[in-house]
Amino acid sequence: MKLFPTSNIWLKAVLAGLLLGTSLIGEAVAQEKVLNLYTARHYATDEAFYTGYTKATGIKINRIEGGEDALFERIKAEGANSPADVFLTVDVARLWRAEQAGTFAPVKSATLTKRIPAHYRDTDNKWFGFSARARVLAYDKGKVKPTELARYEDLANSRWKGQICTRSSSHPYNLSLISSMIIHLGQEKATEWARGVAANLARPPRGGDTDQLRAVGVGECSIAISNHYYYVRIMRSEKPEDRSLVEKVKLVWPNQGDRGTHVNISGGGMLQHAPNRDAAIKFLEYLASDAAQTLFANGNNEWPTVPGVKLANPELESFGKFKTDSLPLANLGKTQAAAQRIADQVGWK
Ligand code: FE
Repeated sequence: MKLFPTSNIWLKAVLAGLLLGTSLIGEAVAQEKVLNLYTARHYATDEAFYTGYTKATGIKINRIEGGEDALFERIKAEGANSPADVFLTVDVARLWRAEQAGTFAPVKSATLTKRIPAHYRDTDNKWFGFSARARVLAYDKGKVKPTELARYEDLANSRWKGQICTRSSSHPYNLSLISSMIIHLGQEKATEWARGVAANLARPPRGGDTDQLRAVGVGECSIAISNHYYYVRIMRSEKPEDRSLVEKVKLVWPNQGDRGTHVNISGGGMLQHAPNRDAAIKFLEYLASDAAQTLFANGNNEWPTVPGVKLANPELESFGKFKTDSLPLANLGKTQAAAQRIADQVGWK
């Protein structure tokens, strides 16, 4: 191809078209396969699996990053004209909401149904979980014995009055946790539990999970509710204040003696109006591959959802194996509204 010393495929097509007296532009466009990805993930490490996908398939990724809710609103607003093929986001509540809004198309893929356990995906295979996160309890080891905090139920014990820090109840992470309490305990007991938690708060909810962990670190509260990866992020930090936080604040994986710890997912699905459906399915299948699973999960210090995939994350692996709540995650979506009603009713802001 000395004749066309450029790597620009468009220019090549135009030049070739002029020489041959025919237009090859249409063909050139058809040959350049793309995947339009809308993602609420924003980890520098994710770059590796985007590159990996392009390498494996020859399909280029056009990526648009944004906030979880902003991207969802954008997809809805774009409707049938949306160029988006795949939407990646976090928390099953958001995946469920997107599914309910008719955002996702079902995906038929033996690879995905074989590799991703059923409780980590939608029953109609409209979304798939690619990494798992645990909602854990962090405690000040000088003030709390882990045995006193072995279950989520223990958070409602009046002995913790004025000692618990948590983010707002209306955040999907807490709504999903409250939902799991509704499913396991029933509406009435879950309401009682939430009332107990609200009565034990050290301060009105504000900030994200990291802020709650830091509040335990500075002694503003003795217990925090947090997703595990915020703690692992601090574990992996070299900053002196983070080193001392990790020394002082430890984690409990709740309900190991019974139903297991509440887990949630980060995941995604193919969109209803996806223009590049083959590329979309290939991308979802790629995310379930061993190599991508390690990268995807490690990017945010999470666990792969595909069983048996190796981690390369000593801090995360230091926790060892634990029992997870095997509740089908899709069920958590259905109880979100009830969870919010309970939180409002008991004054958990
Ligand atoms: Fe998060």
